[in-house]
Amino acid sequence: MNSFAEIIATIKKYDRIIILRHQNPDPDALGSQTGLATAIRQAFPQKKVLIGGNDTEGLKWLSSAQKVSDEDYQDALVIVVDTANQPRIDDQRFDDGAFLIKIDHHPNDDVFGDQLFVNTDASSCSEIIADLIDSSDDLQLTKKVAYYLYAGIVGDTGRFLYPSTTEHTMRVAGKFIALGVDTAAINNKMNEVSLKQAKLQGFIYDILQIDKSGAALAIIDHDLMNKLNLNQEEANSVVSTPGRLKEISAWVEAVQKDDGTFRMHLRSQGPIINELAKEHDGGGHPLASGATAKDLDEVKQMFEELIKIVTDFNQKGE
Ligand code: AMP
Repeated sequence: MNSFAEIIATIKKYDRIIILRHQNPDPDALGSQTGLATAIRQAFPQKKVLIGGNDTEGLKWLSSAQKVSDEDYQDALVIVVDTANQPRIDDQRFDDGAFLIKIDHHPNDDVFGDQLFVNTDASSCSEIIADLIDSSDDLQLTKKVAYYLYAGIVGDTGRFLYPSTTEHTMRVAGKFIALGVDTAAINNKMNEVSLKQAKLQGFIYDILQIDKSGAALAIIDHDLMNKLNLNQEEANSVVSTPGRLKEISAWVEAVQKDDGTFRMHLRSQGPIINELAKEHDGGGHPLASGATAKDLDEVKQMFEELIKIVTDFNQKGE
C-alpha cells in the first residue's frame, strides 16, 4: 500500500496520464475518473491527461470518455480508479503504459499495479480522490473537481443512505457545498428516470419473489424489457427499489443480457453477499455486489444460496 505523497510524486513525474475505470461505469467510476483528471489538468496544464473507456448512455451528462490511442499508452502513467479486478478495467491495454497505479475502495481481491491505494472504509472512490487532492499542495479541490466527486459520492452512497456513509463522507461533501457546488441540481439529475423506467419500478414490486427469510429475487428478462421497451442499462436503474420494502433484507436483481445470460445485482442491508457474488464470476462490496448467471437455473441457484445466507444471518440474530 502506498501513501498519497508517493502517488502524487508519481503523478508529477509523467507528462502523459491515462485514467481508466470499470466497465459499465456508474457515477462513482465516472466521478472519480473525471474529478482526478480535472484536478491534474488544472494543476499541471502542460500534461496530457486522458480519460478512457466506453460511455454509459444515461450518464453522458456527467462525463464522456476520450479516444486513447496505442501511442498514448507509450511512456504513460496509467491510473485505474474504482476497479477491483483487472478483467473489469474498461480498456484492457491498461498494462501498456510505463507505470500503473490502482486507487479503489472495493475489497483488494486482485492486487495489481506498481503503486496501490485501497481504502474499503471509504464510501466511494470519489471520496478517496477528494482526500488525495486535499493531501496535496499541488492539486486543488475546485468547484469543477468537486462537481464530479460529489456525483460519485451521491451515486455510491445512494444519496447518503447506505451504511458506507460516514462522518468523513459528510465532511467531504460539506467541503463541496462550501465550494458552491449546486448539489440540488446534481441530486435532481441523479434522481431522474424516464417514464418507462418509472413503470419498471412498479413492475418490480409485482414480480418480486420474496422468501420468508427476507431474501428476494426480481428477474427482468427479455420479455419484460421488450414489453416496456427498455434496454439493459435502463433496466439496471431499478436495482435499489426492493430495498424500500420492510420485508426484505437482501435481494438480487437478475437482468437478462443480449446473449441470454443474466447480470446479477446483489444488494443487502446486513447479510454479507460478496462471497456469493465471487462464486458466480463476480465480486464487489459486502453489501453491494455484481455477478453473472449463465442461465435461469443459475439465477435460481443463486437465489437459493442467498436464502441460506439470509437464514443463517437471521439465526445468528445479527
Ligand atoms: P452492480 O450491481 O453492477 O451495480 O455492482 C455493485 C458493486 O459490485 C459495484 O461496486 C461494482 O463495482 C461491484 N462489482 C460488480 N460486478 C463485479 C465483478 N464482476 N467483480 C468485482 N466487482 C464487481
